[in-house]
Amino acid sequence: MSELSEAEVRDEVRTWLKANWDPNLPLLEWRNKLADSGWGMPHWPREWYGRGLPPGLVRVVEEEFAAVGAVGVLRGGIGRLAAATLLEHGTEFQKRKFLRRIITAEDTWCQLFSEPGSGSDLAGATTRADFDGTNWIINGQKVWTTSAHHAKYGTLLARTDWDAPKHEGLSYFIIDLKQPGVEVKPLRQMNGHASFNQVFFTDAKVPPEYLVSRVGNGWQVAVTTLAHERRFADGLAAPTRRGPRTGRIYDEERAELATVMEPYKWYPQRAGRVDLVIERARETGANQDPRVRQEIAKLMTLAKAAEWTSRRARAAQRRGRPQGPEGSLGKLAASHVARSAARVHTLITGTAAMLTGEDSPRNGVIAEILVSVPAVSIAGGTDEIQRNIIAERVLELPKEPRFDTGPFRNVRRN
Ligand SMILES: Cc1cc2nc3c(=O)[nH]c(=O)nc-3n(C[C@H](O)[C@H](O)[C@H](O)COP(=O)(O)OP(=O)(O)OC[C@H]3O[C@@H](n4cnc5c(N)ncnc54)[C@H](O)[C@@H]3O)c2cc1C
Repeated sequence: MSELSEAEVRDEVRTWLKANWDPNLPLLEWRNKLADSGWGMPHWPREWYGRGLPPGLVRVVEEEFAAVGAVGVLRGGIGRLAAATLLEHGTEFQKRKFLRRIITAEDTWCQLFSEPGSGSDLAGATTRADFDGTNWIINGQKVWTTSAHHAKYGTLLARTDWDAPKHEGLSYFIIDLKQPGVEVKPLRQMNGHASFNQVFFTDAKVPPEYLVSRVGNGWQVAVTTLAHERRFADGLAAPTRRGPRTGRIYDEERAELATVMEPYKWYPQRAGRVDLVIERARETGANQDPRVRQEIAKLMTLAKAAEWTSRRARAAQRRGRPQGPEGSLGKLAASHVARSAARVHTLITGTAAMLTGEDSPRNGVIAEILVSVPAVSIAGGTDEIQRNIIAERVLELPKEPRFDTGPFRNVRRN
């Protein structure tokens, strides 16, 4: 297929929306239309619910959806990461079984990677998967698992070979969480939300067709998931939807946001709410203080530079180049921006930034920013780990000394 121009894509999506968009449709029916037409995930391949558009033209589709107020696919959530991973490594069976229901948001997903002893050192995972001749049998514990309390499926990294070197003894599975042998226990965070869980596996079962890629290739598959996770952390926002937003579909979407997306409702605050800074400076009068103005200017410069790095990454993608260092740079920049924004919010609001409850600044949102931004520096790989990656893979500095070679069984662990 010859590549479409921006104007042609705009024209096509506009015509399709004119013929199909109806705010009174049931949400599920609309999402199925998105899957059938490919407009929900336009950069996915045509044979898998997409339109094969270059990623750079997705923005054009989003703008046209926003112009008429049309609902898209669920923007966040682990399902998107699972889908990106399955598109790259999944079997025909897995793509057919899982992708469509990710677009329609009928299934919720979670990511079962981190363990109490292996977060940064993800390849040190010790949750085990043993084949009993019929199924893979899973035993062990995961932690920090966002959304596990309501997820149907999880992407699971587990050890299948204890004699192979650390990175070669892992396999990547899809696991159905709604089965005996899976126990999910929510954890409460310092910002009051409970989006993470501990997940315990006792002889839980995974059928062989839920193995992604091949036995022992789990690390490579997990790296794909993480690359997508870091890319999503770059903070480029979708265009704001226009229109009155009344109709059945919006009611159902609001209900969806209140349930499926509930664990993520503090995520705008964890990104630092740069969008609120100037408004807050005006409403508090802090914009009269030249020192505050200077800090705001620094923050805006940092945020703009980070946004442009993301745009540069997208432009490179558009030209068909693989993801470069921008993934780790973008993730690190996002945590700098978030922390700087929290500091500027404190300067603007003063000690009242610590207050929560109805009569607190912005109904507690400022306080929520302060206790949520540390998460950006941890989730999806800590700042230190991003720096290691940049040092070793981008700047080609000497690697950290390693003490974990040889059979994993003999590697010292905490
Ligand atoms: C908001 C949020 C959502 C999350 N969601 C999920 C999820 O859905 N699924 C999931 O599996 N996990 C999830 N995580 C977990 C996250 O991926 C881990 O917390 C992260 O990888 C760090 O691991 P850790 O907490 O075990 O810290 P550790 O690895 O124990 O690190 C502790 C400290 O030591 C530093 N450190 C460790 N190794 C090195 C090194 N080699 N060089 C320099 N410094 C080092 C770290 O930077 C950190 O400061 C989430 C975390 C957060 C905050």
